[in-house]
Amino acid sequence: SRREGFSSIPNVKWEDVGGLDLLRQEFDRYIVRRIKHPEDYEEFGVDLETGFLLYGPPGCGKTLIAKAVANEAGANFIHIKGPEILNKYVGESELAVRTIFSRARTCSPCILFFDEVDALTTKRGKEGGCVVERLLNQLLIELDGADQRRGVFVIGATNRPEVMDPAVLRPGRFGKLLYVPLPSPDERGVILKALAKKKPIDAGVDLIAIGRKEACENLSGADLSAVLNEAAMAALEEKLTSDQSSLEVTPWTIKETHFERVLKKIS
Ligand code: ATP
Repeated sequence: SRREGFSSIPNVKWEDVGGLDLLRQEFDRYIVRRIKHPEDYEEFGVDLETGFLLYGPPGCGKTLIAKAVANEAGANFIHIKGPEILNKYVGESELAVRTIFSRARTCSPCILFFDEVDALTTKRGKEGGCVVERLLNQLLIELDGADQRRGVFVIGATNRPEVMDPAVLRPGRFGKLLYVPLPSPDERGVILKALAKKKPIDAGVDLIAIGRKEACENLSGADLSAVLNEAAMAALEEKLTSDQSSLEVTPWTIKETHFERVLKKIS
């Protein structure tokens, strides 16, 4: 993976994202097709938001979908972590913000992704004080430079939108709010399927049925990824500790029993 703050086209595809179909449709209309067919959008005079806020519980695919949007659009992706702007560039964070936006314009079409954006946009007069306030003002100036932002789309992500200054949520800034929920029982299976594509899953394993199990209740996509990883680990250990001299007829795979063992442990 590239160094933070530098642009490249991510290798995450729509098909790597499980569920979140509505979100995908929104981003298709708002970003992907707009980058692919700018003249058509121009001709019909369609004026759409260029700033988005993904909010919701951790580990549910906010980063993943932002990358998939960039990949689908063939756009560059700049990944900024909110707290790092504050910490890494102490005293220079306003300059850092200016530099980031200028870099985004240079490599447009570009998706500028602010992870944990709440760190940069806490309500004025609350935690943070003067430094945070100056930084926020700089961010607003950059977000408002909409005319120069052709081909630059800004996506913020947060687990706690309630601490953000309402000023940043206005149209033209992070104007379109999109909720990224915990997956439903069926979506959990779809996520497992998306994550399992490159793993040797036994043909007898029904990932949709696993996703519906009670033990999976309230698990996020990140949790499901951990479940899959542990099941794979259990299967791998079985293979490595087996009697290697005996000729196996069936190939080693990740089986129902491996999943059961992991789910038993977490429930
Ligand atoms: P955070 O708020 O913690 O930054 P996030 O919402 O940005 O979380 P991601 O970083 O996108 O979550 O997800 C973490 C990992 O969990 C992904 O790399 C992926 O392995 C898995 N994951 C989460 N959601 C999904 C999903 N909808 N489909 C497939 N994988 C998912």
